[in-house]
Amino acid sequence: MPKIVFDDKGFTCECGMRNDYPGYVQEHWDVKLVYSCSCRRRFVLYQGKVKMVRQSLAESPVSDAFGD
Ligand SMILES: [Zn+2]
Repeated sequence: MPKIVFDDKGFTCECGMRNDYPGYVQEHWDVKLVYSCSCRRRFVLYQGKVKMVRQSLAESPVSDAFGD
């Protein structure tokens, strides 16, 4: 599993690009937000954590990936 480095201001994608969270992210940590890096990798930002969406699940609704 690739390591994604993140902190409370943003995260560094697998591609090496630093992504700062948009302003609304920190106000909505209780909501699963999908964020796409410019390399098209997709992430879910939730409860202060960053989780990469597996490519095989990219076509599925994010809620399915979390089982709710
Ligand atoms: Zn990237």
